[in-house]
Amino acid sequence: MTLTYIITGASRGLGLEFVRQVSSQGHTVYALARNPESSKGLQNLIDGKNVFAVKLDANSEQSIKEAFDKINKVVPEGIDILINNAGIGCDASVNVENATKQEYMRIFETNVCGVSDVTQAFLPLLRKRDTKKILNISSVLGSISTTETANPASVKPPYCVSKAALNMLTKMFANHLADEKFIVYASHPGWVKTDMGGDNAPVEQVDSIAGMLKVLDSVTAKDNGEYYNYTGEKFTW
Ligand code: NDP
Repeated sequence: MTLTYIITGASRGLGLEFVRQVSSQGHTVYALARNPESSKGLQNLIDGKNVFAVKLDANSEQSIKEAFDKINKVVPEGIDILINNAGIGCDASVNVENATKQEYMRIFETNVCGVSDVTQAFLPLLRKRDTKKILNISSVLGSISTTETANPASVKPPYCVSKAALNMLTKMFANHLADEKFIVYASHPGWVKTDMGGDNAPVEQVDSIAGMLKVLDSVTAKDNGEYYNYTGEKFTW
C-alpha cells in the first residue's frame, strides 16, 4: 500500500536518508526543511512525483502554519505518517555546571516545542487517514535509566534533558490520542554518522533508517507510547 509521509529536518543527515528510503519504497514524501533549496541532497531526490519539498522551520509557528496550508491544499485526503526528526545538539563544552538558561531554551525550542507545534499542526491531516502513526526521533541520551553508564563526553545536559522531555511528550500525545487509534512512539536511531553524530559514530545512516523503518512498518496499536531502538528492541526510558 502506498502511504503519504511528512518528515521534518529533511535537508541532511537522518531526515534526508528517511526521505531517500521511504521514497524508494514507492511512498509519497513531503520533505520538510528550513531551506530546501540549499540542500543538494534533497534537490536530487525531488522528482515531482513522490518526493516534494516544503519549507518548514520547526521553531516558527508561522512557518509551520504555511507548510500545513500548502500540504493541506495538495493532499486534502490526509497524511499517514509524521516523522518528527528535526533536532539540534549542544556544543561539546557544555556541561551541567556551565549550561546556561539560554542554551537550555535554544535546545528546548527545537527538540521539544518544535515537535509539539508540528504535531499539533498536522493532526487534522493525520486524523483523516487510518494509519495514524507519529514517530519521534529521540536519543539514548534522554534515557534517565542509563544516565550512569552514558559516555561523559556525549552528555550535554540541555540536549539530554530535551530528549527526556521529548520522551514524556511522546507518552502524553500517545495517551491523548489512544482512543483515536493513533500509534505515537519514540525511536533511538543509534549513534549514527551524521553532522550531529560525527565521523566516529559506529552506525551508518542507511542501517539506522532501514532499522527504524522496519519498526515503523510493524508497529500496531499495542506499540502506542512505546520506545524502540533502531534495531527493533524495546528501549529503556
Ligand atoms: P543533523 O545535525 O545531521 O541534522 C539535523 C536536521 O535537523 C537538519 O536537517 C536540520 O536542518 C534540521 N533542523 C534543525 N533545526 C531545525 C528547525 N528549527 N526546523 C527544521 N529543521 C531543523 O542531525 P541528525 O540527522 O544526526 O539527527 C536527526 C535526529 O536524530 C535529531 O533529532 C537528533 O537529536 C537525533 N539523534 C541523532 C543521533 C546521531 O547519532 N546522529 C543519535 C541520537 C539521536 P538544517 O540543515 O536547516 O540545519
